[in-house]
Amino acid sequence: MSFDIGHFTLPPGDDFKIESFDPADTGKYEGKKDARKDTKENLARLQQLHEKLYAGGDQGLLIVLQAMDTAGKDGTIKHALGAFNPQGVKVASFGVPSEEELSHDFLWRVHDPAPPRGFIGIFNRSHYEDVLVVRVKELAPRGVWSARYDHINNFERLLADSGITIVKFFLNISPDEQAERLRERQQNPEKNWKFNPGDLEDRKLWPEFMRAYEDALTRCNTPWAPWYVVPANRKWYRNLVVTEILVRTMEGMDLEFPDPPPNIGSYVIPDV
Ligand code: AMP
Ligand code: MG
Repeated sequence: MSFDIGHFTLPPGDDFKIESFDPADTGKYEGKKDARKDTKENLARLQQLHEKLYAGGDQGLLIVLQAMDTAGKDGTIKHALGAFNPQGVKVASFGVPSEEELSHDFLWRVHDPAPPRGFIGIFNRSHYEDVLVVRVKELAPRGVWSARYDHINNFERLLADSGITIVKFFLNISPDEQAERLRERQQNPEKNWKFNPGDLEDRKLWPEFMRAYEDALTRCNTPWAPWYVVPANRKWYRNLVVTEILVRTMEGMDLEFPDPPPNIGSYVIPDV
């Protein structure tokens, strides 16, 4: 295949600087058509790998999606993760916490929807909101959110030790591309339903969000739960990169079909 996925991440311990990742990058691909074949192959491969994960039942996969508004979390689920058999997937979306959720520790609401072995879990936003929006909008004191990076690493370690492979994507769009997409949502009647005035408030805090992302990616980029920064200005390249990273990740899991029943050939299918 076509590119080095190391291009989209850093070794654990290195400092992420969002500016050094180009949101408009399309690698060696010139356009959508150019990428179609490779993306299709990846989607087919992901289907096969998912079937083994489901059949094997001894390992799971957690995919975390984080991004600024309009960057394509929903589109990624639809187009890049849509190849997975719905029966073996659990999607969880995390919005503003309820009163009950706020009365627990911040990981309480994410632990239950985390995938069991045999399943793929997709987090549309995640526990990272508790060191992102919570930090940027000062929804909790510094002392509270700053302790959370270690809690997150330990939580993800617990999942990893329990057979769950973790892969985390930051979908990286530029502020200009976001403005374009917000305008589209405002003007296109078919997209009006996605227009949320609250997104404009978050947009004003773009630099603060980027600093918060840099710290989250730097401090929580562990060997057991790596972060990838996906160029997301072009949806087709975003889908290609996400599928490519997932193929490589799942190939690294050594997924196998379970052993068949002993003497499988000796059974006679009864006539009825
Ligand atoms: P959406 O853009 O539809 O995903 O909206 C979900 C909203 O919930 C976003 O504005 C998030 O910032 C917000 N949200 C998610 N998790 C939290 C959290 N732990 N604390 C506060 N706001 C959150
Ligand atoms: Mg929003």
